[in-house]
Amino acid sequence: MKSVGFVGWRGMVGSVLLNRMIKENDFSNIIPHFFSTSQSGQNGPIINNTLFKDLKDAYNLNLLQEMDIIITCQGGSYTDSIYPKIRKNNWKGYWIDAASTLRMNNDSVIVLDPINLKVIQNALDSGIKTFVGSNCTVSLMLMALGGLFEQNLIEWISVSTYQAASGAGAKYVIELLKQMGAIYNIVCNDLSNNLSSILDLEKKVITQIQNNNFPLKHFSVPLAGSLIPWIDVDMGNGQSREEWKGQFETNKILGSENKIIIDGTCVRISSIRCHSQSFFIKLNKNLSKKNIEEILINHNKWVDFVPNNMEETICKLTPSAISGTLRIPVGRLRKLSMGNKYFSAFTVGDQLLWGAAEPLRRMLNLLINI
Ligand code: NAP
Repeated sequence: MKSVGFVGWRGMVGSVLLNRMIKENDFSNIIPHFFSTSQSGQNGPIINNTLFKDLKDAYNLNLLQEMDIIITCQGGSYTDSIYPKIRKNNWKGYWIDAASTLRMNNDSVIVLDPINLKVIQNALDSGIKTFVGSNCTVSLMLMALGGLFEQNLIEWISVSTYQAASGAGAKYVIELLKQMGAIYNIVCNDLSNNLSSILDLEKKVITQIQNNNFPLKHFSVPLAGSLIPWIDVDMGNGQSREEWKGQFETNKILGSENKIIIDGTCVRISSIRCHSQSFFIKLNKNLSKKNIEEILINHNKWVDFVPNNMEETICKLTPSAISGTLRIPVGRLRKLSMGNKYFSAFTVGDQLLWGAAEPLRRMLNLLINI
């Protein structure tokens, strides 16, 4: 059995990965070793009633190099500091990573096997050893619209995203909850005696959100009761890096020769888990709504089609309905007034599952069986 080193298993992506692996009984096929950047020597996770004691130091290259496979969900700065050194030391193991750091490298492959299993298999055959999870919204878009990509039907996509706080990591979720608590605390007495006017309540809430004592350490601006229309760094041309990833990563995942144009605006909202996306799509031919629906549903078993009516949309096409599941609902499908090749669609997906942990777990399983 292969020795697999886990780094970053305590964070949002890492803990979802462990839960999925326990559920699928993946630990019975590997010898796991747990590392930490901050808690070496302390107790690790409990897997199938076994406590993994004495966490290994995630900066100890000698220990890391004993692994056949390293899977890291620790983040980009860890990858930046360890990956070049371990490869320079001639370590020939497989490196699986949730961070974006290595995605652009020529010797890495972005993994999302329901979409690009052939690209992954070709890479394995040619000796590639570095496999990186995609950006979360990119994975979720490809899972939702996979059939249209597979049949080369898309000319371009304009997208608006609605991204959850947990996409930024554990500390950001905690801060969002503190912001929500600060808002509730300022009006909880008024709410229970039911005497205040709505404008008095609203004024207290806005004053609280704009107060310098509002919890802002990580987001730097309010998210609860607001939104943030910028995610990741500035590319220098008015585009955020999150927006840039849409086109670059999609085309790298597909290994496509004809570049598909994707652009839009990425927005952080105050949902806890699950990213949502609104698409305007131009196809390269006129297809009926029914035809598009069939292509989407038939592509993979996780897509659920949500008929475009109010009742089903508000019950089935929301973060609250989808959080913690592998389902990829697609709805709001309608032809647009711009012309017969244009249509809209809306999708929601758990960005900690299909957007992060699940493609890594499935890649690990491909490697275990080599
Ligand atoms: P995270 O929750 O911030 O966890 C990363 C590390 O932060 C943990 O391994 C842990 O390291 C440390 N940490 C500090 N405070 C913590 C706390 N209160 N609870 C748990 N861990 C804490 O980051 P993440 O969201 O899992 O993201 C990991 C990587 O995946 C990043 O590169 C990210 O860009 C990428 N990614 C994330 C998502 C997503 O939806 N979140 C999606 C796709 C890709 P120690 O145990 O060593 O202290």
